Amino acid sequence: MRPWNFSAGPSVLPIDVLEQAAAELSNWHGAGLSVMEMSHRSDEFVDICETAEAKLRTLLQLPDDFAVLFMQGGATAINALLPLNLIGRSQAKQADYILSGSWSNKSFTEAQRYGDMAVAASSQDSPSTNPKIPAWAWFPPTEAWQLRSQSAYVHLCSNETIGGVEFTDWPDLAQLGASDVPLIVDASSNILSRPFDFSRVGMVYAGAQKNIGPAGLTVVLIRRDLLGHALPMCPDVFNFEKVAKAHSRLNTPPTFAIYMAGLVFDWLEKQGGVNAIERQNRQKASLLYEFIDNSDFYHNPVDPKVRSRMNVPFILADSKLDQRFLDEAKAAGLVQLKGHKSVGGMRASLYNALPLSAVEALVDFMQDFEKRHG
Ligand code: PMP
Repeated sequence: MRPWNFSAGPSVLPIDVLEQAAAELSNWHGAGLSVMEMSHRSDEFVDICETAEAKLRTLLQLPDDFAVLFMQGGATAINALLPLNLIGRSQAKQADYILSGSWSNKSFTEAQRYGDMAVAASSQDSPSTNPKIPAWAWFPPTEAWQLRSQSAYVHLCSNETIGGVEFTDWPDLAQLGASDVPLIVDASSNILSRPFDFSRVGMVYAGAQKNIGPAGLTVVLIRRDLLGHALPMCPDVFNFEKVAKAHSRLNTPPTFAIYMAGLVFDWLEKQGGVNAIERQNRQKASLLYEFIDNSDFYHNPVDPKVRSRMNVPFILADSKLDQRFLDEAKAAGLVQLKGHKSVGGMRASLYNALPLSAVEALVDFMQDFEKRHG
């Protein structure tokens, strides 16, 4: 039997998708070829790619004025490609960043090579004086964001995968004095887990390896009026406008990963789409948070208003029990629960493809472990 997989990414994929891909691996739809063996210019692959894009558009209810780009390099590449493509919107080459944890900090650090980047708000300004609550467990409220009206964009991470902090209540930047400034969102770890309000953003991007498919594919959803501002030094293959014009086939895209993403989109459609999966995600996350909050043995420090439904970090009262917890969990069929080293303890990632029964099994195990070691 397959264990329940709580990995933060690359992470669990729907078993139906894996089995379909296995069945079609050497002979896709009677073509006598694997998708891996097909030209990216063939009619078959162009159809796979366009169908995947159409399904993604429907699932996200993406407005028509957004382009969908299937790229490579992961979300980390976008940290550089974003300023390379958009900083030209600002004469002063400036952009603003909201720092809410490890991933947004990385985005900010990388972007600094390309212009005048400022911190518009940071979780380091947390008002908490409780030493048990780290700064990253809080999200800076929008009233406190200091935006510059001449900036090329404002960047935020909608789900900090390491800290377990999620912020999706995206503000109307016009009301914050930055009407011409598009919001750019790294949604690597919560895309497709809940509906997004695309009227509030200029661009959303995500590495595929959590809710979309295998690693190697990076999805960029960008409002078309933001295309065409790339710096001359931007490589063509990473130029959003050129990739959009070539329908993501400017060069060889990650063909197999796009095919797999298409199967995941089919699966998600069969689950009832994003609203239906959101209900399940809400249920899964509340089950785990409620259990943790009612226990003195486990602890999650994140402000309940911004707790992530996708990544739930938790620590044990006695960190000496960490290894035993992981070993016993593995023996009970619950794997990849080790927390990120910067936070310690455990982390349970509850992406779309992880069913409620996996979270029930985790809570049962945690309860039993607490009884035996608490
Ligand atoms: N942003 C977020 C929110 C992430 O979770 C990750 C990866 N875990 C990254 C960026 C980096 O993604 P990649 O490894 O695809 O470059």
